Order: sequence, then structure tokens, then C-alpha cells
Amino acid sequence: MNAAVPLLDLKAQYATIREEVRAAVDRVLESQYFILGPEVEALEEEVAAYCQCRYGIGVSSGSDALLVALMAIDIQPGDEVITTPYTFFATAGAIVRLGAKPVFVDIDPVTYNLDPARLEAAVTPRSRAILPVHLYGQMSDMQPVMEVAQRHGLVVIEDAAQAIGAEYRGQRAGSIGQMGCFSFFPSKNLGGVGDGGMVTTNDAALADRLKLLRGHGARPKYHHKVVGGNFRLDALQAAVLRVKLPYLDGWTAARQRNADAYRRLFAERGLLAGEYLFLPVDAGYGRHIYNQFVIRSQRRDALASYLKQQQIGTEVYYPLPMHLLECFAGLNLTAGAFPESEAAAQETLALPIYPELDGERLGRVVDAICGFYMDILDTGIN
Ligand SMILES: *Cc1c(COP(=O)(O)O)cnc(C)c1O
Repeated sequence: MNAAVPLLDLKAQYATIREEVRAAVDRVLESQYFILGPEVEALEEEVAAYCQCRYGIGVSSGSDALLVALMAIDIQPGDEVITTPYTFFATAGAIVRLGAKPVFVDIDPVTYNLDPARLEAAVTPRSRAILPVHLYGQMSDMQPVMEVAQRHGLVVIEDAAQAIGAEYRGQRAGSIGQMGCFSFFPSKNLGGVGDGGMVTTNDAALADRLKLLRGHGARPKYHHKVVGGNFRLDALQAAVLRVKLPYLDGWTAARQRNADAYRRLFAERGLLAGEYLFLPVDAGYGRHIYNQFVIRSQRRDALASYLKQQQIGTEVYYPLPMHLLECFAGLNLTAGAFPESEAAAQETLALPIYPELDGERLGRVVDAICGFYMDILDTGIN
């Protein structure tokens, strides 16, 4: 019996850094300094440098990074923020929590990122910001996004939760827009031992504003200048993330090697050219960090359950685009409004791509997918 292939294996990663992580946790426990403080400040500097940004502001999660970034530019009820409907919920949720309106722009079906050709038509006098998402670890086409933003005086906030270290023509995720929002959720490429996040910026005034808002708007203590929130990052997360950051480029290289291996093996099997399944397309902007390796199949659900029977982990990111979620029914958007996002939601499937995935297991994933299509061809099911 072959061993299972999980979608992600955090235990395998932990085994390689156990002693360092434990020492870092111990250092924090001995200090009894848990909220913000020197570990968080050091992480902020290190992540900012990694992202080619002047400032990093550690926050409680990627979701709170998005929320506090929108608060920092004073997004108000009635304002509009342009974003993609094909993303994790937090992107749109942050906009709606401030009473603002998410205005969706359909995706480019090849990269799954917001289609910049559709962007300008979504701008109205109420538009305040554009919130592109760098989905699956590949950056959005940022040059046209920045051009539209500049023409209309809009702020650009990058949702880089899946894209730490990704590059667009040599510029890192989070360094192109006015702010970049990162998540350290354990399954992200740089994951903590709990929730955490960061906002990056090159703007000193925004950095100051973000720090103020992160601590309930108090400066000094108990003198609240504005209403912020508790969006603080804790020292335990920071200490663990500081252990992991130096390994990130090696893990990214391993993910890229796995992506190459999938492409080579599927090509060898002749299961390509879009006839049966589509592999992710590298848009050629620069570094893709493969937070996910997402294939596309018109028989997605049957393929997923077949792989599950073979004990191969997969996941659908995401089964529903934002405009079809129950909680956004008030936006009065119906099926058919964003056809590319809707098709992607029905056809995409993430395969295991984690750095520790070895060639034997990766080969089993490819074998199983080929087996699925062979069975279909044999039985003539369409
Ligand atoms: C993970 C993620 C978030 C939210 O991050 P959390 O740390 O889980 O709150 C936001 N946007 C995208 C695109 C994400 O993948």
C-alpha cells in the first residue's frame, strides 16, 4: 500500500527546524515579553527588507492587514474598492466591514488574477482604491493596474497573502502599490505557529498611521487619537517567523522544482495541450512562488474524489466567487456576472506542491491523474 500524499505536510518542515524553533520559543518564554516588542520589530525589519520595502508593520493576521490598510487610507461607508471576485474571502470581507462597496472586476482566465483590461470600466467617482490579489503565488499584471490608479488618483493595496517573495519585473510583491498585505497563516509559504500578518509600505506617513491604528489609535498610551483596533502581532509568532525567513528562498526553490517536475511528467504522458487538463501558466512577469499549483479540468469534482480515494490531498481554491456568496447577496450580483471567475471556481484544483514533496510522491500524483483520464477514455464516459 502506497503512503498517502497530503496537500501540505507541515510536520515534515517542522522536523527540519525543530531545534531552532524551540530555542526561539524558549527565548520568548524566558523574556515573558509577548506582545510587539523587540522580536516583532526585528521581524518587521527583516520582512520589509525581504519585500524590498522601507517599512513593515506586524499585525494579527492577513485579514487584519487588509482591514488596517483600508483604515489607514480612511475608507468610509459609500466608498468603492475595486477588486477580484476570485479570491479568499478576507479580501472582500475587509472592504465590506468598513461599510465600503467591493466593485468586482473579472479575472484573466490564464493567470486567475484581476484582468487589467477590464479595470478602467469599473472606476466611478466613488472609487478610492484598487485591491489586486496575487493569487496562488503569481503577481497580478501590476503595470496597467498602477497606470489606471494614477490616472484616477486611486490607492493600490496589494493582497500579497499568497505571494511573499513573488516578483513582477524585478519588483517584489507588496512593494509596488502604496501598501502590501501579507499573511503568516500556517499554510502560507512563510507560516507561523498561529495567526499573523504584516503590512508593508514605502510611505513613512502610512507606516506611522498603521502603527497607530494597530494599537487602538493610542498615542501615548490611553490617549486615543483615532479609533483603531487590536491588530498587534505577538512575539512568539515573530520569533518563529524569524527562524523560518532565512529558509524561505530554499523552500520556494523546492516548490519551483516541483512545479517543473509536474510540467515535465504531464508532458511526457501526453496529457496536455489543454485537451484534458490545463496546468498553471507562468505569465513571465518574474518569480512565481507557487503557494499553490492549480490545475484546471472540466471534470474537476470527479477528479478530486478519484484522487481522494487514492489518498492524494487536493483542495478547491475557491468553490464560490465572492459575488455568489450568501453574505454578499446585498450587492445584487447574480450568476453570470463574472463568467471567468465562475468557470474557474468550477474547474480549478490545487495539487500538492509543498517543498518537502519528494519525486516519488509527486510521481504518484501524476500517475493517479493519468489513471483517472485513462479510466474515462476506457469507459467512454464524457
Ligand atoms: C490567507 C489569505 C488572506 C487572509 O490571511 P489570514 O492570515 O488567514 O487572515 C487574505 N487574502 C488572501 C488572498 C489569502 O490567501
